[in-house]
Amino acid sequence: MKILVPVKRVVDYNVKVRVKPDQTGVDLANVKMSMNPFCEIAVEEAIRLKEKGVATEIIAVSIGPVQAQETIRTALAMGADRGILVQTDDTVEPLAVAKILKAITDEENPDIVLLGKQAIDDDSNQTGQMLAALLDWPQGTFASEVAITDGKANVTREVDGGLQTVALQLPAVITTDLRLNEPRYASLPNIMKAKRKPIDTKAPADYGVDTAPRLEVLKVTEPPKREAGIKVESVAELVAKLKDEAGVI
Ligand code: AMP
Repeated sequence: MKILVPVKRVVDYNVKVRVKPDQTGVDLANVKMSMNPFCEIAVEEAIRLKEKGVATEIIAVSIGPVQAQETIRTALAMGADRGILVQTDDTVEPLAVAKILKAITDEENPDIVLLGKQAIDDDSNQTGQMLAALLDWPQGTFASEVAITDGKANVTREVDGGLQTVALQLPAVITTDLRLNEPRYASLPNIMKAKRKPIDTKAPADYGVDTAPRLEVLKVTEPPKREAGIKVESVAELVAKLKDEAGVI
């Protein structure tokens, strides 16, 4: 069984992002970039399926600038077998990403495409769903548990108010939620080994995909600053403030 894992290079989740003064986006100059955390969870799950003898090959794919090769290397160091970098300096929106992934899926014939539920830079939460639609494959989104048996995937999904388990006929698209697993750190020997694993470099045009943006970002703004809290002397004062100032009771 082959698993395709798309991994996106995004601003590291520890970085406090700053909006550019002209409000066109966030400042990426000299900012630490890493693999999107939900993609790390997808790589980890694919490796666990390989360790269980369910999967035989894991292919990590990234669409982005030449530095996205580092993101693929991280996936290879964790345990993926080979990589495909679809190199472009353009901003690639989820629909174009999904179209490229569809073309790669048609070429590679994986049994599962295992993606993150969302990329933490633009929070789109669209690529997996769009890919499933383009492929006309079943999808299990927000997975907190994945079990593969007899050509089927049982995916437990985190839904509002509980868990839902769906059975998908393979091939299928699965997207990962936070509680699916805790990704491993790559060991030094595996980082060294990953340097010898193959990465193919392609361009969006190789897959016949036009990546021109379909969306226009009008404005990006900082969230409102939180005001400092105050200490109250008594319960009576707290109740009075909640009633008269905050107007919440
Ligand atoms: P999004 O729909 O942008 O929130 O992203 C959801 C998931 O789609 C990510 O966690 C990745 O698995 C995949 N994905 C999105 N953009 C890319 C990209 N440029 N390269 C590789 N995978 C991507």
